[in-house]
Amino acid sequence: MITQKTIHQLNQIVGADYVSTAPDVLVANSQDALKQVFCAEAIVFPRTAEEIAAILKLANREKFFVTARGGGVGYTGGAVPIRGGIVLATERMNQILEINKADLVAVVEPAVKTFDLAEAVEAEGLFYPPDPSSWKDSFIGGNIALNAGGPRCVKYGNTKQFVLGLDFVTPTGQIIKAGTRTPKNATGFHLESLLIGSEGMLGIVTRCILRLLPKPEARRTALAIFESAQEACNCVADFTSSGILPVALELLDRTSINAIEDFEPSGLPRSAGALLIIEVDGLKEAVAREAEIVREMCQKHRAIQFNLAANDTEADAIWEVRRKMSPAVARTGIIKLNHDVVVPRSRIPAMLDFLEDLSRSSGFLIPTFGHAGDGNLHTNVMLQDNEEDTRRRGADTVREIFRKAVELGGTLSGEHGVGYAKAPYLDLALTAPTIELMKTIKRAMDPNGILNPGKVFESPMSAHEVGFVNSGQACC
Ligand SMILES: Cc1cc2nc3c(=O)[nH]c(=O)nc-3n(C[C@H](O)[C@H](O)[C@H](O)COP(=O)(O)OP(=O)(O)OC[C@H]3O[C@@H](n4cnc5c(N)ncnc54)[C@H](O)[C@@H]3O)c2cc1C
Repeated sequence: MITQKTIHQLNQIVGADYVSTAPDVLVANSQDALKQVFCAEAIVFPRTAEEIAAILKLANREKFFVTARGGGVGYTGGAVPIRGGIVLATERMNQILEINKADLVAVVEPAVKTFDLAEAVEAEGLFYPPDPSSWKDSFIGGNIALNAGGPRCVKYGNTKQFVLGLDFVTPTGQIIKAGTRTPKNATGFHLESLLIGSEGMLGIVTRCILRLLPKPEARRTALAIFESAQEACNCVADFTSSGILPVALELLDRTSINAIEDFEPSGLPRSAGALLIIEVDGLKEAVAREAEIVREMCQKHRAIQFNLAANDTEADAIWEVRRKMSPAVARTGIIKLNHDVVVPRSRIPAMLDFLEDLSRSSGFLIPTFGHAGDGNLHTNVMLQDNEEDTRRRGADTVREIFRKAVELGGTLSGEHGVGYAKAPYLDLALTAPTIELMKTIKRAMDPNGILNPGKVFESPMSAHEVGFVNSGQACC
């Protein structure tokens, strides 16, 4: 419980203007893209690592919980203060501190938006590849805490491939400087790696040293439509023998195509089994050749339609189809149970067959789309009402999807993390000793359990209660 005395102490650390208990501020900062509100008792907006260290020391003394918040567009409830306490909103720590072309390095504060960083480095002829579809809202700090991915990660990898070093504050308030600004480093444990994907439970990132690449000279984007999802998947799998690695290999299944046509007609054939968006990048001459290989691959797998964008405007029009996906799918039901399972690339056809059968047997629409190039499928179990029986059947269906992903050699999440949304299912993917080792690390770094409680290892609610919208007004 946060007392008036604690509020006073927080005011002294960050300044009274940067501590809020106003109901609208509490509600806005106590939810994420899952849209379930669990209210914080105060929102604190620090500016420096030193302020964060002081807040965490106070939290350990006074025993209140602290949950870090980035852009608040996570899908698994990671930034939601499910057990109360304060939300530590990083939004004021939003400076790009350095873009260094010679070293291919950017140094940024955690609240820089992913898209803003990508644009800033492109202006210097450089490239920061991780591109979560939420990148106009997500923060680099949130991306690191979840090891975010995106369409371009097929070729370039997730956020973890681009983190060279991090400053972070431990749960007990120590400021740590991990990693370096050099591409090679074999000096001690890679503590920066420990923080990547740690879901705000092992420390609060305050400064990020990121690896950049030279900006590719050219890109070509294609949209290919296939009669069956099987053919599209075979095409994806076959790229390994094509001699090229596309930047992006995005797949939309038939239900997703129809959701788009219902939402905003885009001229896609409703009877198509699946579509692929394929992008290649690199030197101009190489890209021209790679685009031809993409065409050959799609022809080989009997694409019924193939459209290679001639310029950036046409390429953007193709990507617009993909951008419509989330709002279009949201319209196909009242509640969307959205998860980002991952399977080995060769097992995507098996996963899609399974999902089609599951949709039939459960009675739920399950539009599926995502980053097929790295086996990362976004499955959306769509519920048509909020009745308890429907919610239970929805949660059972989600469990079946996770079980199958693991059986096929994959796991629960490729990029969204576990948060509290997937916590009830963790033991499907990780062995008991593995979970115990993770808990041991957490206890060693956070002996009082201050930072982001109620996530990953423990589920504060039953599976059928996850993801069901509440307004939060009553509790804040
Ligand atoms: C429409 C839509 C599309 C999306 N597409 C993608 C996609 O393509 N790829 C993808 O990976 N994700 C995607 N996401 C999910 C999400 O946006 C990303 O996971 C993103 O990384 C979340 O960043 P955030 O800044 O909003 O983090 P938040 O939601 O604010 O926080 C996420 C976690 O990070 C922790 N955290 C935040 N800041 C810090 C910090 N400074 N230090 C330590 N911990 C911190 C929080 O405590 C929490 O556990 C999508 C979401 C939406 C709504």
